[in-house]
Amino acid sequence: MIGILGGGLSGLSLGYYLNQKEYDFLILEKESECGGLMKSVNIDGFTFDVGGSHIIFSKDKEILNFMVSLLGDNVVKNRRNTKILYKGRYVKYPFENGLADLPKQDNFECLYYFIQNLLKKEKGELKPPTNLKEWFYYTFGKGIGEKYLIPYNEKIWKYPLDQISTVWVERIPQPPVEDIIKSSLGISTEGYTHQLYFYYPKFGGIQSLIKALEDYVKDKIITNFEVKSVKKEDGKWIVSNGKEELEFDKLISTIPLQELLKTLNVPEDVMDAVRNLKFNSIITVGIGVDKPKINDFSWLYIADKDILPHRVSFPSNYSPYVAPNGKSSILAEITYREGDEISKMSENEIVEKTVEDLDKLGIINKDDITLTFLYKFKYAYVIYDLKYRDNLTKIFEYLQRIGIDSIGRFGSWSYANMDAVIRMVKDYVSSRF
Ligand SMILES: Cc1cc2nc3c(=O)[nH]c(=O)nc-3n(C[C@H](O)[C@H](O)[C@H](O)COP(=O)(O)OP(=O)(O)OC[C@H]3O[C@@H](n4cnc5c(N)ncnc54)[C@H](O)[C@@H]3O)c2cc1C
Repeated sequence: MIGILGGGLSGLSLGYYLNQKEYDFLILEKESECGGLMKSVNIDGFTFDVGGSHIIFSKDKEILNFMVSLLGDNVVKNRRNTKILYKGRYVKYPFENGLADLPKQDNFECLYYFIQNLLKKEKGELKPPTNLKEWFYYTFGKGIGEKYLIPYNEKIWKYPLDQISTVWVERIPQPPVEDIIKSSLGISTEGYTHQLYFYYPKFGGIQSLIKALEDYVKDKIITNFEVKSVKKEDGKWIVSNGKEELEFDKLISTIPLQELLKTLNVPEDVMDAVRNLKFNSIITVGIGVDKPKINDFSWLYIADKDILPHRVSFPSNYSPYVAPNGKSSILAEITYREGDEISKMSENEIVEKTVEDLDKLGIINKDDITLTFLYKFKYAYVIYDLKYRDNLTKIFEYLQRIGIDSIGRFGSWSYANMDAVIRMVKDYVSSRF
């Protein structure tokens, strides 16, 4: 019998693929429902994805088809209409494809520094970047970097960009120079094209994908089971929630590494490594609006640091069925790190400031609001600080030594979207079972 710790997308996809191979397993989930970050909540007919706005897209066609097929008829396809709010203007996303929407001087500076950068690179005058901040300068130049990419990334990561590794952005190709020139002149181009069209459940929010997976493994899930201790006795794993003990031959964990290691009796240097892993947390504020339509946008990025949310999405534009008839919805996302200013704000203060900010920006009118709602997730994004690789090596050497496999977004400690999580799990099952 295999024990799967955690019933988010990783745990459920593990169940799905192990089921196909007829393995015996049990999924242990601490909450009363599965889903983790893909939780959706329905209040007064509004459905909010409380772990942040989730859309279905991927370059990996096999996994994309799998996700869409899980939804059956419960799916809609949308074309992205995403903007960046810059000096009161709506600029096409990605920023480097929307330069003509900028004030003329800003547009000029973005193009000028981009080209100047290219010339310097040709002459070998630019040093390869060693951190995320340098990478923005190196790849896009000072204009695009300082006007948008650097302030936005500082706002979402809540961590100094010169202390973040370039490992996860190195794969991103240099933007084609002709696209940047076209974008500056106002000739339409698209960036990030594998996300230009995206899917979303018609009803039920992103948790519908979780529910579709659950159908395959229904009788193999135990909810309200928070794993508190894990130990090995006579070749068997004993997993306990403090009241009940379960016995397994093998364990696969998908819960955050921090949560897993605290259930084990771990050597101090490994515990230090896990304490040194950096991540940020997220607050989502759902807002119900008494208006049939707020705008035509999919979502909006806001780099301005005086404004609380860094991203605002419009779920009722993804699917009209996630808001009551004649009403629409907004989901604001705010990242924070324990101990920072935002983490010290009360829930009321956060909701009030979010509403004030969105009203001030003209995105909503306070008087149209019928409902507000706040949710928090401790683990939102892993931060690839400059030491993360050393820390992970130490942690995974230990886990390998004791024989626990750990995968998933926070189980593998990676910036893995839904498609990457399913791919990781599928490949893991086919190579190991
Ligand atoms: C703001 C935001 C927006 C995103 N948008 C997108 C998007 O648009 N498209 C996309 O493809 N991906 C998106 N993602 C990524 C997506 O959410 C993840 O890839 C996916 O949810 C990760 O699933 P997981 O199972 O690995 O982790 P989690 O969802 O974190 O699941 C872990 C599970 O373990 C459980 N658990 C924790 N501790 C214990 C314990 N001690 N005992 C038992 N159970 C425990 C938790 O309750 C949870 O259910 C987004 C992520 C964020 C943060």
